[in-house]
Amino acid sequence: SAIRPSTNKKRATDGNDGKESNIKLSVRIRPINNGARSFVASGNSITEVQQQQPEPTFATPRRKAASEYIYDSVYGEKSTTHEIYNEFVSNIVSSVVNDGVNGTVFSYGQTGSGKTHTMQGGDDDGDNGVIQLAANQIFDTIKQDAAAAEYKVKVSYLEIYIEDIVDLLADSNSAAPLEIRGETINNLVEREVASYEDLMLTIEKKVVETAVGNTCGDDKENSTPSNGFNASSLYLTSVLSLVDLAGSESAKLTGAQGQQLKEGGAINKSLTALGLLFVGLSQKEPINTGYRNYKLTRILKPLLQDGKVAIICCINPSLAYCKTTEYTLKFAERAKRVKTTAVRNMETVHSKATTLSLRLELEESKVEND
Ligand code: ADP
Ligand code: MG
Repeated sequence: SAIRPSTNKKRATDGNDGKESNIKLSVRIRPINNGARSFVASGNSITEVQQQQPEPTFATPRRKAASEYIYDSVYGEKSTTHEIYNEFVSNIVSSVVNDGVNGTVFSYGQTGSGKTHTMQGGDDDGDNGVIQLAANQIFDTIKQDAAAAEYKVKVSYLEIYIEDIVDLLADSNSAAPLEIRGETINNLVEREVASYEDLMLTIEKKVVETAVGNTCGDDKENSTPSNGFNASSLYLTSVLSLVDLAGSESAKLTGAQGQQLKEGGAINKSLTALGLLFVGLSQKEPINTGYRNYKLTRILKPLLQDGKVAIICCINPSLAYCKTTEYTLKFAERAKRVKTTAVRNMETVHSKATTLSLRLELEESKVEND
């Protein structure tokens, strides 16, 4: 069945009482034969076969009626992450920086569908992912706004591994898994970063402790700010969460065993809970969807409820993945029904000073590292 972008914005919010949803859904179709070349041999020569680019559609089994899904936007095989970022993500980052609204961006889909490519970028330096593009936008805005506002950017970086929250910025790898209290993750390391490079180095763990120390808040607070901010200035605090989810396929299909099966089981349960959380959030009356049972959904629930959200559902158009692709598209449909209100984190803003906290979350395990 064909997937096409919604031409009428109203339709994209169907089921939302005409209210514009703060959760935006897009589907990204990855190239079908990424770099794969095929050759034919004839006689003593070999010729490369020029691959026809297939139409950016996927087929459902013939006996089934084709279904049509409508999203806020759909990106074909030739699309670039930059294009998706500009059209679909940058307005969220701008709300985070300028309006004190939380933002969450995540990629969803089966292993190999392009989630990490979309969020973390490709192997080429120029092939930036949402993380790099968002970091760039944040520091560009700060530079432009330097005369009017003071910003602090803090980053934290975590991974959920079989229901353990692992702090990737913690000093020692043997640090105990973190616990969630209420809506916050206890003892999660937050590092202040002063520039794009600083941020990227921090999450690549190449960070030198002293370099971080130089950019820390204390120095800034002790010096007299040239733009007239003082200790009584209220900071508008917002969090941008960038999430690279684990593969959504069933552990059984991957033939996982033992520890891998355990990982796969935990991933699938938490992703199922994420789907149910969307069902719960789309109901008029709150229903218990069991989101409290999983770290992923406990962390994401307040962000999905109160902030602006962009979900990029990644699909592999190959017929072999028809079933999982259909599941991904259905997950996206469910998420689309949610109606939320983005709230400012602080009602009274006495200055334009803003604290930004960028959080990168990953749920990865050996199961989906192909
Ligand atoms: P996932 O994180 O969903 O498991 P990856 O992002 O790791 O999938 O993608 C699998 C492989 O396909 C990687 O080698 C990646 O570079 C490549 N790939 C995915 N999406 C694209 C794309 N849109 N363009 C080019 N290569 C892609
Ligand atoms: Mg990945």
